[in-house]
Amino acid sequence: MRTQVGIVGAGPAGLMLAQILHLHGIDSVVLECRSREYVIERVRAGVLEQGTVDLMIQSGVGERLAREGMRHEGVHLAFLGARHRVDFVGLTGKAITVYGQNEVVKDLIDARRATGRPLHFEVEGVSVHALDSNTPRIRYQSGGQEHELVCDFIAGCDGFHGICRPSIPAGVLTAYERVYPFAWLGILAQAAPASEELVYALHERGFALFSMRSPRVTRLYLQCAADEDLEKWPDERIWEELITRLAMRDGWKPNVGPVLQKGITGMRSFVVEPMQYYRLFLAGDAAHIVPPTGAKGLNLAVSDVLLLSRGLAHSYQSGRRDLLDRYSADCLRRVWKAQRFSWWMTSMLHRQDDGNPFDYRRQLAELDYITSSRAAMTSLAENYVGLPID
Ligand SMILES: Cc1cc2nc3c(=O)[nH]c(=O)nc-3n(C[C@H](O)[C@H](O)[C@H](O)COP(=O)(O)OP(=O)(O)OC[C@H]3O[C@@H](n4cnc5c(N)ncnc54)[C@H](O)[C@@H]3O)c2cc1C
Repeated sequence: MRTQVGIVGAGPAGLMLAQILHLHGIDSVVLECRSREYVIERVRAGVLEQGTVDLMIQSGVGERLAREGMRHEGVHLAFLGARHRVDFVGLTGKAITVYGQNEVVKDLIDARRATGRPLHFEVEGVSVHALDSNTPRIRYQSGGQEHELVCDFIAGCDGFHGICRPSIPAGVLTAYERVYPFAWLGILAQAAPASEELVYALHERGFALFSMRSPRVTRLYLQCAADEDLEKWPDERIWEELITRLAMRDGWKPNVGPVLQKGITGMRSFVVEPMQYYRLFLAGDAAHIVPPTGAKGLNLAVSDVLLLSRGLAHSYQSGRRDLLDRYSADCLRRVWKAQRFSWWMTSMLHRQDDGNPFDYRRQLAELDYITSSRAAMTSLAENYVGLPID
């Protein structure tokens, strides 16, 4: 079997890449180890930058997003019992859109199916070979048979735990990493959102985030220990803690309802450099992870594959590799700025558990400064809505 671009992973990065390549008339095969249902039902990110929304619309996969996505023109920062609004549109002219990652993935899968191009779920034993040759290969099993896919290029879009990054020979990549001493306990609840916009709260008991997925479903998170045991968190305890951290002096608090899903998300900053090795290109979580506080993970995956698709299209059209050769450097400039922002938001909004009250006072001063200085608020807003892709 032969294809132009072999894509490992059908998350947002792999599926978006496949769609843009299709629009350029470039052939690809997408290989995914999980089932279609699993991939669609996986609840993860939900905040889309304006650039991500624009790209989805331009790529012909934004119809439902334009109809059902919830445009947010600002967020609230809450501390000492009061909310302070950051007006994105007033400060930057741009907005964000709340639309679940699972909805993005569903739309991209439907679009892929409509193209008739291959997307294989539940493949097993995926491995990549001959990466430094002109015909890198992907081997995998499907339907009880061994397959070998001969490619011009391979896109490693297989997430943090995938096989592409570890297939690059030792010594080529440098990894930069920070693991945080806390995690997020997240719930999805059948409750109408009590606010039209997100609320990021720093409380003396720790961080909490109020968010939403639809007009009937609220998404909430609270800071917990890195090794937290979910069993110790019955629904009543979760709600009690959320209300303690999120209830405001003006009476605002989240609406309570049945918990539909709950889980713990670890917090990590991670980047490998470079993001390419000969004809293998890493994109999205395969190359970098951000703590979710800045809502950047999904958006970075999309900006990576936009740059990769441009490099691939240019290479097929002109026979030149200059854009492709610059792929890693071009991505990393934006990736590191998103890393900085995600780290900064995380450090500002989470309690550091070293028993020293200095940091909490400093964090409150920082929040007070941000919410009272137009310059500081603009800096937060322009990063949150998304820096330019190029
Ligand atoms: C639990 C969790 C919660 C998150 N919450 C948020 C959030 O609230 N806000 C935010 O901005 N970001 C969040 N993120 C981050 C965001 O979801 C990711 O940045 C985004 O999914 C990256 O997309 P991706 O396509 O690069 O990787 P993924 O979405 O991880 O996709 C990779 C795909 O590759 C497949 N795969 C892996 N190995 C193989 C293999 N060997 N062969 C074939 N296929 C393979 C996987 O099954 C997966 O479908 C969260 C992430 C996690 C894990």
